[in-house]
Amino acid sequence: MKLKNKTALVTGAGSGIGAAIAKRFVEDGAKVCIVGRRKEYLEKVAGELPPGMVKPCQGDISKTEDIKMMVDAAIGFGGGVDVLVNCAGVNYPGGVTNIELEDWKKIFDVNLNGPFLLMRSVIPHMIKAGGGSIINISSIGGLRCLSDRVGYCTSKAALIMLTQQAARDYGKDNVRCNVVCPGFVFTPMTEGHFGEFGEVDKSQFRAVPMGRGALPGEIGGICSYLASDDSSYMTGSVLVIDGGTTIVDPFEIGLNG
Ligand code: NAD
Repeated sequence: MKLKNKTALVTGAGSGIGAAIAKRFVEDGAKVCIVGRRKEYLEKVAGELPPGMVKPCQGDISKTEDIKMMVDAAIGFGGGVDVLVNCAGVNYPGGVTNIELEDWKKIFDVNLNGPFLLMRSVIPHMIKAGGGSIINISSIGGLRCLSDRVGYCTSKAALIMLTQQAARDYGKDNVRCNVVCPGFVFTPMTEGHFGEFGEVDKSQFRAVPMGRGALPGEIGGICSYLASDDSSYMTGSVLVIDGGTTIVDPFEIGLNG
């Protein structure tokens, strides 16, 4: 119960990694305000958790007017915000010359501006309370390029720097900011590319030393650690959780095409 007496706000919690993080936080004792755009998805997640431990909050992180409502909902529910997890994200294809301009803007609104606005809103509360933990979900796409994903990778790289900049500025206030970079995780976002877990052709993961993608729950543990006092001296860290994907030289396995 390492998160007992903590309140967390988790975005993108209606599905995939965000839902798994919310579940893990509740298992570890936290009260969690789960944010997302789709009420029925949030209610489904809440229905799988003990009553009184989770509060669904429908909202869009790309809408400035929704940000205060989300933070107020978390404070009203748990009395404060000890932990913020920015997990909501979108991923549209395209390179510099062919990405739809609307998609480029949407990616930045959700993957970067939403986390920025939530951090801006939550940090003063954390400072007043004596500290807090912010966990931003980036991607290995923020550390290296993925073909045809200029918007996604650029936004995720910027999210890493946003996290570290905040860690630099608010470390003195005991507001810790760390960023998690998952590799391939089986969620609605990747289903189109990799299929459901179990149906997947293993050769798709030949570039991954562990030979497989992750289940969403495998990202929850590291987030619980970062949310807890066990990581009390960690800030500005970039945690890669990718089954070894980024240590592989693509030339070695003939993936340099
Ligand atoms: P997902 O599509 O299941 O989750 C994304 C969630 O964000 C959805 O519930 C969606 O409704 C929500 N969302 C999107 N726009 C929103 C908005 N404007 N306001 C509020 N909520 C919004 O996919 P996922 O894989 O669980 O993605 C979660 C995070 O993990 C994303 O930031 C993604 O970039 C990151 N990530 C995923 C993988 C992967 O392989 N699945 C790898 C690295 C990083």
